[in-house]
Amino acid sequence: MAPALSRSLGASSVAALRPCPSSRNGLVSQWRRAAAANCARGVRWEAGRTKGKGRMVGFRCDAAVAEKPAGEEETAGEKFEYQAEVSRLMDLIVHSLYSHKEVFLRELVSNASDALDKLRFLSVTDSSVMADGGELEIRIKPDPDAGTITITDTGIGMTKDELKDCLGTIAQSGTSKFLKALKENKDLGADNGLIGQFGVGFYSAFLVAEKVVVSTKSPKADKQYVWEAEAESSSYIIKEETDPEKMLTRGTQITLYLRDDDKYEFADPARIQGLVKNYSQFVSFPIYTWQEKSRTIEVEEEEEPKEGEETSEDERKKRKKTITEKYWDWELANETKPIWMRNPKEVEKIEYNEFYKKTFNEFLDPLAYTHFTTEGEVEFRSVLYVPGMAPLSNEEIMNPKTKNIRLYVKRVFISDDFDGELFPRYLSFVKGVVDSNDLPLNVSREILQESRIVRIMRKRLVRKTFDMIQEIVEKDDQEDYKKFWESFGKFMKLGCIEDTGNHKRLEFTKHTKEKKFVDISKEDLELGEDDEDKEKESKQEYTLLCDWIKQQLGDKVAKVQISKRLSSSPCVLVSGKFGWSANMERLMKAQTLGDTSSLEFMRGRRIFEINPDHPIIKDLSPESPAELGGKIYGMMTMALGGRWGRSDSDEAATTSEASVEADSSEGAATEVVEPSEVRTESDPWKN
Ligand code: ADP
Repeated sequence: MAPALSRSLGASSVAALRPCPSSRNGLVSQWRRAAAANCARGVRWEAGRTKGKGRMVGFRCDAAVAEKPAGEEETAGEKFEYQAEVSRLMDLIVHSLYSHKEVFLRELVSNASDALDKLRFLSVTDSSVMADGGELEIRIKPDPDAGTITITDTGIGMTKDELKDCLGTIAQSGTSKFLKALKENKDLGADNGLIGQFGVGFYSAFLVAEKVVVSTKSPKADKQYVWEAEAESSSYIIKEETDPEKMLTRGTQITLYLRDDDKYEFADPARIQGLVKNYSQFVSFPIYTWQEKSRTIEVEEEEEPKEGEETSEDERKKRKKTITEKYWDWELANETKPIWMRNPKEVEKIEYNEFYKKTFNEFLDPLAYTHFTTEGEVEFRSVLYVPGMAPLSNEEIMNPKTKNIRLYVKRVFISDDFDGELFPRYLSFVKGVVDSNDLPLNVSREILQESRIVRIMRKRLVRKTFDMIQEIVEKDDQEDYKKFWESFGKFMKLGCIEDTGNHKRLEFTKHTKEKKFVDISKEDLELGEDDEDKEKESKQEYTLLCDWIKQQLGDKVAKVQISKRLSSSPCVLVSGKFGWSANMERLMKAQTLGDTSSLEFMRGRRIFEINPDHPIIKDLSPESPAELGGKIYGMMTMALGGRWGRSDSDEAATTSEASVEADSSEGAATEVVEPSEVRTESDPWKN
């Protein structure tokens, strides 16, 4: 989690500022006004308890805070400013995003589910974290009268420092990806789907709430803390929870005070139930929502005796009738058996697609999926998907940490950081879940890297992925294959270079015959059959020229030779066989940050190649070195930017500039051969 970047007031500075009445009292009175208004509207916050499982703590009216004498410091709490990015995000959420508001529930439920996952994971090595905090579950209670919705989980909770780090700054998470995508999509309008696609994590609560209160208890802390913030504010408050009615044994309770416009919709229990069913059906913890239910009960009825009918007192009491009674209770809203644990024959395609979209925040259906179980030597279950589109950022092809594979051990979510261990880099676009029975629950990257089990899993995962891609290739309708190739062709190319073991499979995917991969920016490039006689002739004809150029360039190049790769350029600088290619050198330069020692060592010597078929080179007559020199200088002068036709007195200066240019061209980016410059017989990448 990123450290708080711009906490304006630390604990000590807050203490120092306490005598200043204006800011604190200003805020308290703001809340008092809000609380008083709520109470005036008849808000009643009563402590509610769950039936059976776990514990649910509700609230009493906030006005209680307002009633407290001004001297009670603990009600005020400490005030902190948001990190600048959070303020920007909040501003955007509150003022610009009007569509897909309902995603707030998906985001908060998914945070609650993560918190439960974290707790379950920690409890494997430290059972004390579970304490007696009850079952692992999520409860959602909309209150139409109060215009609030309260989401409670029995997960890991947050300490005071975590509250500041997590809810005051933006970590490297979905939220920061969202901001990045926003930057790249400047035309974000109110209806833009980005918010639906990324969500904005916790802060999406402010899509619908004018005030958010988070009360949370971590097993790591003795105290329970409350985080409170209003939508229009650039700061938030943290204070200790002191109200016995609000105490949690463990976990987090988030209360949203809905905006007037959103109260009707999102405080409605039926709407919330619908959203949970839609958005969170694949959360693997039970989600209960507070629902109005009805049941039929028998009641005794005093019935007036019909005229002339004599009924005894006893008989009259016995008359009963059934009526429908309304009551409120918790109702389980989701299916908690993970999809990968179900029998593939019983799961519909639409369910797989929904699981994919919900789990990976995707909006397109996948191009293909596979659900399989392996038994015997190594036992694991997996559902894998080929996404419907390429990753939005190109980084993902270089960076194997995509969080695309969620690893579970015996149904316990372990991490989504192990993609690199389970899949080769060129298949890092594949998304899915892998659940193993054979790995230890405290599995680490080191264990994974050395595990024989993981090596077997990896092989099977790759094989199944190829089968899945194969299905796309073999479909009658080639539309999906086209999409696949457009989106992931470059990954397949990378695979051809990286994975000789699966070369055959990859080639099949590409519909090409076997080709050897060579670096076209290095010397000794062989492109098909050469005309040996012609080559010999060229060599003889241009040896003098090559020698002369080498003499002029001196140590700046290792040698000068006749090129076999050029068609339209007169010359090119290529890398020697050993050392880095020019492109690699450029990448390394960008990374070494001033450490040039390895750069010097690995840097390939440059080779200057001339194109014997190019008119310029043909025209350079090596018989008279003086004439040749003049022509070369003339050529360079032209290349240096239209200085043709200078007076003779400029000539000397031009010559020395030309040599400076040659110098810097070597020091700066060396030329990389453009594909168009390279003579190829058939380009295997062209469809
Ligand atoms: P993200 O979930 O993408 O990291 P969020 O803005 O949704 O970003 O949440 C920020 C962080 O706040 C989470 O990573 C988590 O550490 C913490 N957090 C949010 N909700 C809860 C919760 N219900 N229980 C515990 N921690 C939470």
